[in-house]
Amino acid sequence: MVLPQSSIVMKFGGAAVSSPERFLSIAQIIKNKMTTHPALVVVVSAMGDTTDELISLAHKVHPNPPSRELDMLVSVGERISISLLAMALARAGIDAVSFTGSQSGILTNEAHTEARILEVKPQRILQALSNNKIAIVAGFQGMSKKTGDITTLGRGGSDTTAVALAAALGAQHVEFYKDVEGIFNADPKSSAQAKKFDHMSFASALAITQAGAQVLQPRCIEIAQYNGIPLWVLPFETSQTVSTKNLGTWIGQQECATATRPATPIFEG
Ligand code: ASP
Ligand code: MG
Repeated sequence: MVLPQSSIVMKFGGAAVSSPERFLSIAQIIKNKMTTHPALVVVVSAMGDTTDELISLAHKVHPNPPSRELDMLVSVGERISISLLAMALARAGIDAVSFTGSQSGILTNEAHTEARILEVKPQRILQALSNNKIAIVAGFQGMSKKTGDITTLGRGGSDTTAVALAAALGAQHVEFYKDVEGIFNADPKSSAQAKKFDHMSFASALAITQAGAQVLQPRCIEIAQYNGIPLWVLPFETSQTVSTKNLGTWIGQQECATATRPATPIFEG
């Protein structure tokens, strides 16, 4: 049986899943990763602009949609991605099973559209891993602990899902697959002098995301810092062919330091 401690969490955002073909590329990245890490949890966001489109659809029906129903609607975006990824993995001959946020045990407060994670009970994920299946999880969503209703974690919330799950599982680290080479000291699209960080501390990653860098949701860096979970921001394109620790940017210690982690994971509640 694979121990959850040896698991890693991989996260693919909206740009990485913007077309059906992308799911086939992700299946390839996962297949490569399985050769070194058999216990994989994969968190995905909604395809491309799906979340924006669902929100504008809601506003065509109601100028100020009830937030409970808005969450019910927008959480569908990630559900499309998890099922398509499970299909792409099945096609590649890989055993995988998809889960919604509530099936993954992501329990939140009742603040619809901006919910905070109180607790994570990943029983079904552990079961999948112990049956040697890849667990695919819908990012951005959870379930209110009090009401049992579907909640969402705020825009960009899939990053937070990935790190919270890693904390609950005691995973080694989280890998974020992005359409950038890593984290830079300036915007590489507008500045030729921009330099990539190979490594940075939680504090500096938090500072640059709070100052507006869109690379990760600041909340996910806080959860990573509380729980001592290293984060690795990686380029989606190169990762299909190359697998090296020198790619991208590491946040926190590169080596997994599970000994220094809190006895019980710390989330946002
Ligand atoms: N799909 C959601 C959003 O666009 C969550 C995410 O992308 O992380 O905000
Ligand atoms: Mg999105």
